[in-house]
Amino acid sequence: MRKKIIAGNWKMNLKQQEGTILISEVVNMVKDEVTNNALVVLCPPFPHLGYAKKLFQSQANIFLGSQNCADKASGAYTGEVSAAILQSFEVDYVIIGHSERREYYKETDQTLAAKVNLTLENGLLPIFCCGETLQQRQAGQHFQLIQDQLTNGLFHLSAEQFSKVVIAYEPIWAIGTGVTASNDQAQEMHALIRKHLASKYGQAAAHQTTILYGGSVKADNAAELFACPDVDGGLVGGASLKSREFVNIVKAMK
Ligand code: PEP
Repeated sequence: MRKKIIAGNWKMNLKQQEGTILISEVVNMVKDEVTNNALVVLCPPFPHLGYAKKLFQSQANIFLGSQNCADKASGAYTGEVSAAILQSFEVDYVIIGHSERREYYKETDQTLAAKVNLTLENGLLPIFCCGETLQQRQAGQHFQLIQDQLTNGLFHLSAEQFSKVVIAYEPIWAIGTGVTASNDQAQEMHALIRKHLASKYGQAAAHQTTILYGGSVKADNAAELFACPDVDGGLVGGASLKSREFVNIVKAMK
């Protein structure tokens, strides 16, 4: 059975003390409540990675994620953090190609493919994001665009490498807007993604791939979204900053 994952993307939020409190609360709640169905991945800003893992070391279903990594292996790239450095801090997952990185930092498919390679070479698991703008959806370009993002970012990988990849479908018009994709819209795109993956890696590999939905997931809409047959969990932004709300999203995965 494929992995179910709820990943919390804190984005550029929370100072050290706030982060410590949030992680401790999440760990305690996840420990005390029945959340066996999903793995939890916490993705704080880089400086938090140094201490975060120590707060949930003994918790088998909580993992550490980074929101980004460099597209170069090492060297004179001021301000960047390599996959090798992340690995040395016991990071497990790396979000790659979030729409905010694509849009604000002009990350191209080529850059993202390099990041995917470095992530895998360093034993980390990529959470590869794809998604369309509202304009692209209204113009009927969304299916082709998502397929192109997947092809350009991932389809150079071997089957063995690809088996490590998690996909996150995040319609840009739903990120941080309070507007969620309908269950039908999410399911339709997730099924298309799985079909596209199957065209390259075969049915069995596509069936094993975890495909997350992201875009204004909240405790009160999570259960419906996660009930869609091709939705295997969520990439959660704003709602991951509140421990109770986030853990209720984790609990919504049945
Ligand atoms: C995200 O940042 O990946 C995201 C989905 O944000 P939000 O949940 O706030 O829409």
